[in-house]
Amino acid sequence: MKGSLRSRLTLSIAAVALVLIAIISSLSSYFINQQFKAYITKQQVSTLNEIVYSLGQQYNTDTQTWNVEYVHTIGMYALYDGYIIKVYNESNQTVWDAEIWDMSTCIQIKEDISHQMLLKFPGTNGKFSDTDFSIELMGNKIGRVNVTYFGPYFYSDNDFDFLNQLSSILLFVAAISLLVSIILGSLIAKRISSPILKTINATSQISQGDYKIRIKDRSNLSEVDHLIESVNQLASSLDKQESLKKQLTSDVAHELRTPLTTLRITIEAMLDGILEPSPERLKSSYEEVLRITNIVKDLESLAILEDGNLKLEKADVDLVDLAHQIVKKLEHQIHEKEMVVSIKGKCPEISVDSERMTQVMINLFTNAIKYTQFQGNITIEFEETMDDVVMMVSDNGSGISQDELPFIFERFYRADKSRNRSTGGSGIGLTIVKSIVEAHGGNIQVQSEVGVGSCFIVNLPK
Ligand code: ADP
Repeated sequence: MKGSLRSRLTLSIAAVALVLIAIISSLSSYFINQQFKAYITKQQVSTLNEIVYSLGQQYNTDTQTWNVEYVHTIGMYALYDGYIIKVYNESNQTVWDAEIWDMSTCIQIKEDISHQMLLKFPGTNGKFSDTDFSIELMGNKIGRVNVTYFGPYFYSDNDFDFLNQLSSILLFVAAISLLVSIILGSLIAKRISSPILKTINATSQISQGDYKIRIKDRSNLSEVDHLIESVNQLASSLDKQESLKKQLTSDVAHELRTPLTTLRITIEAMLDGILEPSPERLKSSYEEVLRITNIVKDLESLAILEDGNLKLEKADVDLVDLAHQIVKKLEHQIHEKEMVVSIKGKCPEISVDSERMTQVMINLFTNAIKYTQFQGNITIEFEETMDDVVMMVSDNGSGISQDELPFIFERFYRADKSRNRSTGGSGIGLTIVKSIVEAHGGNIQVQSEVGVGSCFIVNLPK
């Protein structure tokens, strides 16, 4: 059966409290009873001594007679305390006998005590028996007293009252403790469950598309805080994805609209005979078509890479050689911007998909050319570490601001949008680079400072 976290926690805390209270109550009750028994047993001895002593005081040595009146008082007090006494003188003649004096009370008291003791302690082996004590006065024996009482110990009505009251107090304390622990347990459970409930609420809102939601509550449990942190991160990354998706549609539309409009207007004008289909006009139209084709090609590559079923056709490749070949291919653009490109370092051949790696280099090198001013410098450096081959592509170009750095590998993300419109990028290049590098088991990082330049570092496992 499923219950809510809060009720489960409350019940668990209450159950633990209940067990503890039960243990504490029964242990206290057991030890109190033991102690009380020991106390009563001691008390019985001192009562007996007192009876014997008081009886001794009622003997007059001069007249050698007993003060029977006082003996009677002592006997009656003793009787009501549960001690049935018979007092004999030196010559064994009865001085006073409780049973002779008041037989019915004696029987009544015997019955009461036996009944109460057997009721309270059903297994007790206690019973009424009698014992003789000699009565002495100043070292001389003046008689004896025969005492019948319930041994080894018995409780009076007061004692039973005391024990019953103690039990009620224990019960009351247990009930209050249980109540307090249920209330405290419920409060603790609320404190624990409330941030979790809020997190559940937030996740269900996220699942319905509300990516702006963030959980502000914090708990005093680190696991719950981690959960909240993760959910907040999930929401913000979904939010980012969502806006990238929206931007993607508008970017694709924008990227395609501009060249298509130029093409349409030019072709319409040519069809209407307004413009001559001269070689330059046809060339410029052809370039627009190329631009559209390139964007569509980039989109296609990205779709393949992001499909997850990318098959790499690996072969041993010398990356330094490959870099030289690609720089040669880009010679035209490099010359146009009067740039200096240097390739440094060396590395062993590694097994990569050379076509994909070519794409990585073209994208990184063209970016470096695109985002670096006239007469800038580009350095392509290779290095070998224990496990990796490292390629660093650095330029002294425009750089990327720290705010934009985390997003440049995202699809269609273009830092400094107004500037990029003129450079004609579509924001897919680095996404493709990252996918290819990661498909090879490597990773790519970037260090950049606005106005100083950028350095893209590609690590590929050997
Ligand atoms: P784009 O087609 O716009 O170049 P990319 O995915 O290749 O798309 O790059 C994403 C963004 O990263 C670019 O718009 C640009 O702002 C920034 N960027 C990439 N490389 C560099 C670089 N070498 N120097 C400065 N900015 C760069």
